Amino acid sequence: MQPVTFAPIGVIHSPYKEKFGIPRQPSLVPAARITLELVPPFDQPDAVRGLEAFSHVWIHFVFHETAARGWTPLVRPPRLGGNARVGVFASRSTHRPNPLGLSLVELLGVDTTNGVRLLLGGADLLDGTPVLDIKPYIPFVEARLEARGGFVDGPPPVLRVEWSERARADLAAAADVPTGFAELIEQVLQQDPRPAYQDDPERVYGVRLDRFDVRFRVAGNDVQVLEICG
Ligand code: SAM
Repeated sequence: MQPVTFAPIGVIHSPYKEKFGIPRQPSLVPAARITLELVPPFDQPDAVRGLEAFSHVWIHFVFHETAARGWTPLVRPPRLGGNARVGVFASRSTHRPNPLGLSLVELLGVDTTNGVRLLLGGADLLDGTPVLDIKPYIPFVEARLEARGGFVDGPPPVLRVEWSERARADLAAAADVPTGFAELIEQVLQQDPRPAYQDDPERVYGVRLDRFDVRFRVAGNDVQVLEICG
């Protein structure tokens, strides 16, 4: 078959500036506020007319950051601890023959005042992600309560977040902190962003959120926010 080519219809603006720390699926971090900006010639209000009547949309996008790394038939999903393997088509791995992602996200607003921007809640998308398509979510067709979830039956366990005095003071002293930023930090860290095979309670990690570097440490089921560097 001939290769097919698609032109991105838009680009993602996201507080997630690097892969590390992005939740592994949408809706796990509802506090994340992400904007999808349509690009010419798709940035026409007519193209999104009626979309605001839907509460959720499917976003088809390209895993552009990792696309060049190729794929293998077997992958190791983090949910299986990072050792057990399943077929790439039995997974939501980013390393696929065609590096396409699909996320169901909340549609919080449609702004057509100057171009077209969609405000999305809870997306799992890196800043700069190219978007190929948007489709409304249709609950009566797509919500299947009887469906089996394979090796991902149920949400992952979450960590308990505790703030150091230093981190609280850093946040209080910072200028232009985005609305809901403390909530975003907590929800991201609750998901335990560490690679599946790492468990060193002394190790300090840093995750970039918006324009901040958030330092943290994990011991058992507790994650401590250590400092927030601007
Ligand atoms: N919900 C989508 C799906 O099922 O196709 C994505 C699932 S994938 C496991 C989620 C991960 O994709 C995130 O944790 C993040 O590390 C990664 N990711 C998000 N945007 C990306 C991009 N533009 N390029 C590469 N990786 C990306």
